[in-house]
Amino acid sequence: DVADLPGVPEWLPDHLRDDGIEELYPPQAEAVEAGVTEGENLVASIPTASGKTLIAELAMLSSVARGGKALYIVPLRALASEKQADFEEFEQYGLDIGVSTGNYESEGGWLADKDIVVATSEKVDSLVRNDAPWIEDLTCVVTDEVHLVDDGERGPTLEVTLAKLRRLNPDLQTVALSATIGNAEALATWLDAGLVDSDWRPIDLQKGVHYGQALHLEDGSQQRLSVQNNEKQTAAIVRDTLEDDGSTLVFVNSRRNAEAAAGRLANTVRPHLTAEEQEQLADIAEEIRDVSDTETSDDLADAVADGAAFHHAGLSRGHRELVEDAFRDRLVKVVCATPTLAAGVNTPSRRVVVRDWRRYDGSAGGMAPLSVLEVHQMMGRAGRPGLDPYGEAVLIASSHDEVDELFERYVWADPEPVRSKLAAEPALRTHILATVASGFARSREGLLEFLEQTLYASQTDEGGQLERVVDDVLTYLQRNDFLEIEDGELDATSLGHTVSRLYLDPMSAAEIVDGLRDWERGASDSTSASGSPAETPAEPPADSGFTTANELAEDVDETDDADADPDDISALGLYHLVSRTPDMYQLYLRSGDREEYEMELFEREDELLGPTPSEFEEGRFEDWLSALKTARLLEDWATEVDEATITERYGVGPGDIRGKVETAQWLLGAAESLASEVDLDAARAISEARIRVEHGVREELVDLAGVRGVGRKRARRLFQAGITDRAQLRDADKAVVLAALRGRRKTAENVLENAGHRDPSMEGVEPAPDVSVDLD
Ligand code: ADP
Repeated sequence: DVADLPGVPEWLPDHLRDDGIEELYPPQAEAVEAGVTEGENLVASIPTASGKTLIAELAMLSSVARGGKALYIVPLRALASEKQADFEEFEQYGLDIGVSTGNYESEGGWLADKDIVVATSEKVDSLVRNDAPWIEDLTCVVTDEVHLVDDGERGPTLEVTLAKLRRLNPDLQTVALSATIGNAEALATWLDAGLVDSDWRPIDLQKGVHYGQALHLEDGSQQRLSVQNNEKQTAAIVRDTLEDDGSTLVFVNSRRNAEAAAGRLANTVRPHLTAEEQEQLADIAEEIRDVSDTETSDDLADAVADGAAFHHAGLSRGHRELVEDAFRDRLVKVVCATPTLAAGVNTPSRRVVVRDWRRYDGSAGGMAPLSVLEVHQMMGRAGRPGLDPYGEAVLIASSHDEVDELFERYVWADPEPVRSKLAAEPALRTHILATVASGFARSREGLLEFLEQTLYASQTDEGGQLERVVDDVLTYLQRNDFLEIEDGELDATSLGHTVSRLYLDPMSAAEIVDGLRDWERGASDSTSASGSPAETPAEPPADSGFTTANELAEDVDETDDADADPDDISALGLYHLVSRTPDMYQLYLRSGDREEYEMELFEREDELLGPTPSEFEEGRFEDWLSALKTARLLEDWATEVDEATITERYGVGPGDIRGKVETAQWLLGAAESLASEVDLDAARAISEARIRVEHGVREELVDLAGVRGVGRKRARRLFQAGITDRAQLRDADKAVVLAALRGRRKTAENVLENAGHRDPSMEGVEPAPDVSVDLD
């Protein structure tokens, strides 16, 4: 009973009852017995939707009640806002909640007063690197989706960050929440924690496989579920669910498939909508169109108007929220999603269909099956407690033999064990530098001892592998002037400290410093930067692939008297430079792209920073072209090409543009700091390129676009109406502003207010008739 919880604030039982929670679910009760409300460490491995959030809340609230401070680590930014909204419920009891996801170079001083902080693992890592003083005040840390330590890219950050937090504060309560995995006890051992390992679910889940005209369920029963003429299996299941007044979540393996499937399933859903639902859906479709002016937005709105939707990482946040809300409100009856949705966002539905159980995997060179863990997480979204009698999760088989295969592979299978991915060079490069720079280790032995506290160390008997990689990485860091080793003592150089605080992969920093130095030399020796790729001699194969900062420093000394004009660095050159670092996800070259970007390279090679790799260095040359494609996207954005054209030209969604722009902003900001760190006179050109990409405008609009509420399109309209900067906007004729903003009074008032206009009210103002601006 919620009245009998030790250690929690006295208001909590009533609060929970108001939320309809009278009794703990069994795994929650086990967690309390294991001391989660009394400061004990805990690993909870329980199925999706079985109440992990409440376990987290019990731990954090009791810790705060004892005068402490809690941190909740989320794996995805999209989850941070959902959790923030959950925890803000506690503000009525005087708690302060803070969320921090972006901006890797600050120490987040304002978070010092918060009782509960929500952040991504990357953000927490960067807070530690930037010596945020309040980190040492933490008394409780909760990690959501801790099984993601298995993720090659992000896992190591989570692992090292937890190890650092625990070293900073040995009394820290550590609570780790995981989907059901094969080796939860290994996580518990690593974290010195008690374990709740449970299969309990609040609502029954039946897993099964559909083939032919029947749904084969795991209890051995069969349900007739017939597929009509010209109908796909998925459509038949969606229709069958609708006839029972339920909704369906369909998981597919790519964005394009999600969009295509939603388009088709709209035809299945439409006949089942009431007139009232159609009206409400039409309103939501309009809101979706308002979010952005792109084909994706239009396609989504069209599908939603018919009660279907797609959901993937290419959507902007606004789109995703509208879709999730409409699905929860049972207006949208089917959502076709890529697996991102399974990882967290709380959108249960009556049935889940896992349509594609294979997806393209570059490292496997083709289609590879999803892990059992992923498929079970998707399946776990089936069934809404209190609303559905039970949930059903269905895999789709295309042949009789596949029915058996899918039962073996997923329905009856146990999820894989989670394994640390720390002992890989890219991960250790970053984390070893940061570990030394923040003083967690001062010698090779100290470093190895620190790494002993990671999951990796607890999972391997073979110390040799880690030591070998550590030594390689130390050599790399030393050679590139990030670290010094003297008399066995490890020390970060000033450059190394900067790189760690900027949250850069050291290899990105080397690439940036390299490119800028090359440009400085090249500017004094204009012959070096021309010639077709084939004529450029191949770089000597250093093992990093890059010239070291030390070697560069020598080169530059010889040309010290050259006076390169920093204003000559082209924005494209800078965009290309940051796009070729390992911190940027480059766009893929699709078929046909290679020729196009080779031509582009030929025409614009002079603008790029550093020598083009030879065509015979297949990997590096390909990378160089992908970086050029990415840089061209950024350049288009910063020259006001409209969003719809960009999405089409590069085959991306609006959310991807945002993603690239944000990464470029961060990396250019870092490049600015690096340029001054190594005394290069390029900061101004970099800053300009950064601000242009931030606002997506040409140079002349930078000032205007910086006014809150203005943005790239409105800045251009105002500019065309003769208002060219912030100062002019502050004193502008309101009739002109109103006309330039196409008669939108609310917008005009907002914009004027933000620009500091004395009297922004638009009452009685009519748009000036002689102002005509038309961009579309
Ligand atoms: P998870 O994080 O494990 O996927 P959630 O924490 O989001 O699952 O919980 C799923 C749903 O169950 C939420 O809507 C939550 O309010 C509800 N819930 C959690 N615990 C209880 C409980 N003890 N009694 C009733 N409902 C609960």
